[in-house]
Amino acid sequence: MALFKLDNVEDLYEIREVLGSGHFGQVREVCERATGTLWAGKFLKLRRGAGSRLGLERASVEKEVEILQSLQHQNIMALKDVFESKAEVVLIVELIRGGELFDFIAEKESLTETDAIDFLKQILEGVSYMHSKHIGHFDLKPENIMLSDKQVHNPNIKIIDFGMAHCFLQGEEYKSMGGTPQYIGSVVSMEISESSGSLTIRVNNKCRETGRENGLGFSVTFHKKMLSGLSPFQGETNEETLKNIIDLKYEFEPRYFNQTSSMAKDFIQKLLVKEQSERMTAEECLVHPWIKMSYNMVSACNRLCKLKLGCKSSALEKQQLRDCESDQEDTETKTTSLLRRRLSNSS
Ligand code: ATP
Repeated sequence: MALFKLDNVEDLYEIREVLGSGHFGQVREVCERATGTLWAGKFLKLRRGAGSRLGLERASVEKEVEILQSLQHQNIMALKDVFESKAEVVLIVELIRGGELFDFIAEKESLTETDAIDFLKQILEGVSYMHSKHIGHFDLKPENIMLSDKQVHNPNIKIIDFGMAHCFLQGEEYKSMGGTPQYIGSVVSMEISESSGSLTIRVNNKCRETGRENGLGFSVTFHKKMLSGLSPFQGETNEETLKNIIDLKYEFEPRYFNQTSSMAKDFIQKLLVKEQSERMTAEECLVHPWIKMSYNMVSACNRLCKLKLGCKSSALEKQQLRDCESDQEDTETKTTSLLRRRLSNSS
C-alpha cells in the first residue's frame, strides 16, 4: 500500500477558493506557506467502509497517484505531493489558471481551424507521451483538458483528471465501464499498447477493439466538437449515443461542417475507423498533413486572404484556399447553448 504524507495539509498550505468539483470532492487553490507558491489541491473523499457507497476506494486513489507520478510532460498536469487523513486524500498539483477547454470554446463560441490544430497538436503530444508509457486516460473530454492561461495568445494545454486512467501490463485485457457516453468513442478506441499485442478493450461487455497501438477516437470527438460545437455521435438519449458509437454512425452535417476544410474531414475520417489496426495512432495523427502542414498553410492562407491576393492565386493556392476556407468564423457554429449543455458524466 502506497504511503502518503500524514502531515495535516493545512499546516503546510493555506486552503483557498474552490476551483472546481468532481464526483468525489473539490479542487481548491492552495498556497504553500513556506514559499507563497500557489498550487491546486484535489481533495478526494475516501470510502469509510466496505458497505459505504460514498467516497473513493483508497486503491483507486493510489492508482491515480501512481499514474500521475509516472507522467512528466508539459501537456499533462504535474503532481507535487500527496497527503492523507482518515477521511480524505489531498493531491497537491500544478495550478492551472486558464480554465477548461470546454468553457474556452463556449466563450469564444467557435474555434478557427488554426486554433483547433494548435490545441489538438498539444493534446496529441500529451496523449502520445502517455501511450508511450502504456497509460490510457479513459476519460478525455473538453472538461478534462485545461488551459495554462487563457489570456495569452497560444495557451498551453494541460490534461487533467487521471481518475479513470489505467496503466497496461503486457498482454492485459482491460475492461473500462466508466466514462462519459458522448466520449465513449474515446474509451473504445483510444488505448494502447505497442507491446501488448493482444490488448482488448470492452465496452458494455461487447468486445470492440483488439490489437496493438490504438488510435484516438477521442480526438475525433474533440475535433468534431472543437470545429462544429457538437459531438459527432450525439443522440437524443445516452442509449442512442452509445448505439451511434457502436455502429460508428456519424455524419458531417453540412449545417455544421460546410466551412470545415477537406483536410480536417480527412483527419476525422481516418480516426473514425472501426478496424483498430487501420486507425491512426497518436503518433500518426501528429504527422497527418492537416496537423503538420495545414497550420502553416492556414496561416499562409490567412495572410494571402488579407493581402487580397486570392484572385492571383495559382490553381494550387486556390485549392489550398478552398482547403482553408474553414479558417473563417463559422456563424452557424455559434452554438454556445449547445456547448453549454454540459455532457452528463457517468464516470
Ligand atoms: P470527475 O468526477 O469528473 O472525475 P474529479 O473529482 O476527478 O472529477 P477533476 O476532474 O480532476 O476532479 O477536477 C474537477 C474540476 O476542478 C475540473 O473540471 C477543473 O475545473 C478543476 N481543476 C482540476 N484540476 C485543476 C488544476 N490543477 N488547476 C485548476 N483547476 C483544476
